[in-house]
Amino acid sequence: MEVLLEKAIIYSVVLGLILLTIYIYVRQLKRNSKRVDEKIKKAKEEGLHEPVSLHPEIDVNTCIQSGACIEACPEKEIIGIRNGKATLINASRCIGHGACFHACPVEAITLVIGTEKRGVDLPHVKRDFETNVPGMYIAGELGGMGLIKNSVEQGKQAVNNIVKAISRAKGSEYDLVIVGAGPAGISATLEAKRLGLNFITLEQDTLGGTVYSFPRAKIVMTSPMDLPLFGKIKLTETTKSDLLELWIKVLNENNITIKQNTKVESITKEGENFKLLINNGETVLTKSVLLAIGRRGTPRKLNVTGEHLEKVAYRLLEPENIQDKSILVVGGGDSAIEAALALADLNKVLLSYRGEAFQRIKVKNGEKINKAIADGTIEVRFNSNVVEINELNIILSLSDKEIKTIDNDLVYIFAGGELPTDFLKKAGIDISTKFGHAVLKHEKKR
Ligand SMILES: Cc1cc2nc3c(=O)[nH]c(=O)nc-3n(C[C@H](O)[C@H](O)[C@H](O)COP(=O)(O)OP(=O)(O)OC[C@H]3O[C@@H](n4cnc5c(N)ncnc54)[C@H](O)[C@@H]3O)c2cc1C
Ligand code: SF4
Repeated sequence: MEVLLEKAIIYSVVLGLILLTIYIYVRQLKRNSKRVDEKIKKAKEEGLHEPVSLHPEIDVNTCIQSGACIEACPEKEIIGIRNGKATLINASRCIGHGACFHACPVEAITLVIGTEKRGVDLPHVKRDFETNVPGMYIAGELGGMGLIKNSVEQGKQAVNNIVKAISRAKGSEYDLVIVGAGPAGISATLEAKRLGLNFITLEQDTLGGTVYSFPRAKIVMTSPMDLPLFGKIKLTETTKSDLLELWIKVLNENNITIKQNTKVESITKEGENFKLLINNGETVLTKSVLLAIGRRGTPRKLNVTGEHLEKVAYRLLEPENIQDKSILVVGGGDSAIEAALALADLNKVLLSYRGEAFQRIKVKNGEKINKAIADGTIEVRFNSNVVEINELNIILSLSDKEIKTIDNDLVYIFAGGELPTDFLKKAGIDISTKFGHAVLKHEKKR
């Protein structure tokens, strides 16, 4: 009897412990899921939840919530665990390191581009980087795969393929024109020099590409990059300025000048050559073209007098270094509002927007700008248009057709961008829209 009682007590204690463990586990799971739910809610409010380009797609039936993907991702909080399965949080911040893909022990992750709802236009590019237009090549993020290291590798490989296929066409000034001087264009430039090609590189802005247009100092590289005429760069973490300095140093040491502030407006066929129309109206003839123009496009211009002045910019870098200036910010989207807010503490900021009210902006930005208007830290003029930009002032037309001249030191224009799709189509390149197309997937899923 006593033995039985003893056994019953032991079994009860063990059962109790098991139930307690399950209870604690379930409670923890619920708590964590709630936290992830809150993060997703915030990401939705801030417009960061919906993927814009590359992102991981998680097979929830295979996921075992190991958390290895979360641990591996250098960007943080792109993935979280909710209800025992990995899920996307700030998906639009994913830049395609693919670290999650490699880390997952059960191969539950595929790296895809576009979603069912939001398609992404991708040009057709063959394995040798040539497009459907013979002699016209694409390297870097424009082809679908992001990251500095990948772009550097593709720029180099594309030039190697171009050299093998260069035409014997007569009458062209160049063997090759490289369009764009981001990581892919810079690497292609160095490789073209190494191989002794007669080439030129044209950049619409300043060299450096996408990384330099974003307010982020840290650059993460998950694997080393091999830069032509320099060699292996084994940095896992660096800064924008250090990387830019390195690129400039290698270009200078090899006597290479990249033609900056030179936008290629269009590319047409002229006999066997290509004719590139440049923004200053000049044309360039070349046997082959390498497009390394990334996916971000070209900032849209207002096309007003004075827009060419040095004080006009289409991106804001290091706002903390700008003070005591009278600044005009143009635009009604998140970029314009974020720039105005970043400048308002140390400067006098006027925000001009041609619309009646801000539309489709992040909730947080809406709250912040309303507060800044109420405090008088930022003056906002809706229904206004820039008429002219001068060295010392700007001329604005206001809603009541009143024209006003306002003292001004700097102008920042955020009027959206022209994506490269039309430019590519006009050049004859085939484009298709991808709705969740896999760019990195495990063999077994083929
Ligand atoms: C916020 C953010 C952070 C990132 N952080 C990292 C990171 O830490 N590590 C990493 O590896 N990657 C990072 N990336 C990704 C990386 O920046 C890109 O994958 C990479 O820059 C792509 O290189 P690219 O040369 O193909 O294109 P881009 O860098 O976009 O360069 C294209 C160049 O072409 C020029 N151009 C465009 N059109 C024309 C034209 N018509 N005529 C002349 N020039 C033109 C542009 O001005 C630009 O300079 C980040 C991206 C973003 C958005
Ligand atoms: S692809 Fe890269 S940035 Fe995107 S979630 Fe995976 S590790 Fe993070």
